[in-house]
This record gives sequence, structure tokens and C-alpha cells, in this order.
Amino acid sequence: MSESNQIDEIRRLMREKNAFVIACHTNPDGDGIGSSLGLGLTLRGLGKDVNVLLEDYNEKYNVIPGKELIYHGEWADLRPDVFVCLDCGAADRLGGARQFLEKAGTAVCVDHHTGGALMADYSLIDPLASSTCELVYQLIAPEFGLSMDAASALYAGIVDDTGGFRHGCTGKETLHIAAELVGMGIPFTDIYNELMERHSPTEAFVFGEALRETRLFAGGKLAISTLTAKEMAKYKATGQDVGGIAEYLRNIRGVEISALIYEKIPGNVKVSLRSKSADVSELCRGFGGGGHVNAAGCSFSGKIEDAAETVRKALEGLVK
Ligand code: 5GP
Ligand code: MN
Repeated sequence: MSESNQIDEIRRLMREKNAFVIACHTNPDGDGIGSSLGLGLTLRGLGKDVNVLLEDYNEKYNVIPGKELIYHGEWADLRPDVFVCLDCGAADRLGGARQFLEKAGTAVCVDHHTGGALMADYSLIDPLASSTCELVYQLIAPEFGLSMDAASALYAGIVDDTGGFRHGCTGKETLHIAAELVGMGIPFTDIYNELMERHSPTEAFVFGEALRETRLFAGGKLAISTLTAKEMAKYKATGQDVGGIAEYLRNIRGVEISALIYEKIPGNVKVSLRSKSADVSELCRGFGGGGHVNAAGCSFSGKIEDAAETVRKALEGLVK
């Protein structure tokens, strides 16, 4: 059931207003990028003035059409009628785009995380949806139709957030929507391969380093890997290059929770948690982060060893 459903009001804004700024969370993933560009392409098709704000992202997401909508000027210069915030349930995850929550005439939030309704004037929020792209499809397809490029963008986001239709968030509706999109003739094989299978040389080598650094705890129920700033620098890796590692560790037989703990720069530690069934989002919220039941994250400042120790103790408590 939707947590908030103002779909008609949002469609009315799409018809009546002219200048739109669209943004998603920092360190954008396929769902954030796909929903931003899919909605952006649709609004552009309606003749609207559209600027999409996206931080640099992993090159695999170049398979998502609509890159020409990304704004490269000074963000502060934009004066939108409507700001649309996608796939982002917390204002502090909006990064530099956060200013538009106040600056824009109207703020809209479409999301499958909870929390967004508090930030926006109008929202479409359903924590049971597989992805924000699924909700953007419901928002636009019946009312405005979908171009091939917008359909590809939304398909990419659905594939990314469902791990290729494998995660528990995949529902009947998700597959119905995917069927509609595939039926339109989008290049679904290319999109799937690019997002699920392919990786860069940097990703391959940093993956190897992470596996070497992996240790099992709690009788094999817990897998933890750490990558220090020095190890990250050795492969010129950024946060965008470590995406699939925590998932891989969760797939070790017997493991219930996995953690990748890495240093973006010395003293700035990021934690990525994945679980088979335990709720790791609650634990992350306790550390100022958040996320979903089986995939969540948080950040620490200080020594990576101290962060790793804190996380290990908390996780040992959780898997007992
Ligand atoms: P990842 O481990 O891929 O960085 O993040 C997994 C999920 O956890 C994301 O979908 C996001 O919802 C959430 N998440 C990760 N880091 C943070 C954080 O620092 N704060 C919050 N609120 N959520 C996060
Ligand atoms: Mn998402």
C-alpha cells in the first residue's frame, strides 16, 4: 500500500508547470539515474524546460539514455517551478541539490524509501515498490505514454534495484511493467548485461583486493571486508567501483550478513551492509545512516579500524 499517493496532483504539475529540476541521491545508482532521466525525457517530450542534476556516475550507467538532460552549469543559478526529488528519502542524501527543496516553487518526491513525504509538497511514496523507476512508470506511462528512450531508462533502474529481478522487492507488478517495457522493443539484453555482468578493470582488481581482505566471524555467519584509502588508491578506485562486493560476500554459503567497509579518503569511512534476512537498516539508522531491510549503509569519521570494530560488534549481536 502506498505511504503517500498524490499521483493526480503530480501529473497536474507536469502538465501545467514549465521549468523542472530533477535530482536523486548522491553517488547515484541505476534507479536514481534511470528514474531521473526517464522522467526528464518524458517532461522534455511534453515541451518542458528540464534540467537533471546528477553527480558523476559509474560508466556502466552510460547505457541509460537521456544524458543530454544533465545540467553542467552552476546549480545555484537554476530557478525551477518544480523540483522533483527521486529515490531519496533523506534531505542530507540529496547533496548539493538539497537547496531546491526550499528554492523551488513546489517540491515533489517520488520514492520507494520512506521519509520523502516530509520533505515535499506532493509525493508518491510506496516502500513496497521494487524501485523508484516502477513508481515513475506508474506516474507517467498511463497518462503521458513512454518514448523508447524513457522506457529503456526505467527498465535500467528496475533491473538495477532488483538485482536483475532476483531480490525480494521484485513483485508481480514489477514483472508486469518489465514485460510492457520489453514488449516495446527496448534493448533489454544490452541493458541487463551492462548493469549486471560487465565491470571495469578497476572494479575487477579492487574486487580481488576486497576478497583477499575478507574475514569470516560469528562461526561463518558474518563476512567482513575492509578496503583502506591506501588500497583504494592503489587501484584508483572510488565508491563507484565497489558496488557489487558486499552482495558477493553475502552469497558465501552460511553467511547471513556481509559488510564492506571502505575509506573514501583517509578518515571518511563508508559501510555497505547486505543481509539474507536480518534487518540491517535499523542498525544503520543507529549509526546515522539508513536504507532497506536487506541493503543499508552508513558512514563514520575516524580510523577505519575503529569503524570496522564497531560494525563487527554490532553485527555479531545481530546474527546471534
Ligand atoms: P550501498 O551499500 O549500496 O551504498 O547502499 C545500500 C542502500 O542503503 C541504499 O539503497 C541506500 O538506501 C542506503 N544507504 C546507504 N548509505 C546510506 C547513508 O549514509 N544514509 C542513508 N540514509 N541511507 C544509506
Ligand atoms: Mn532505488
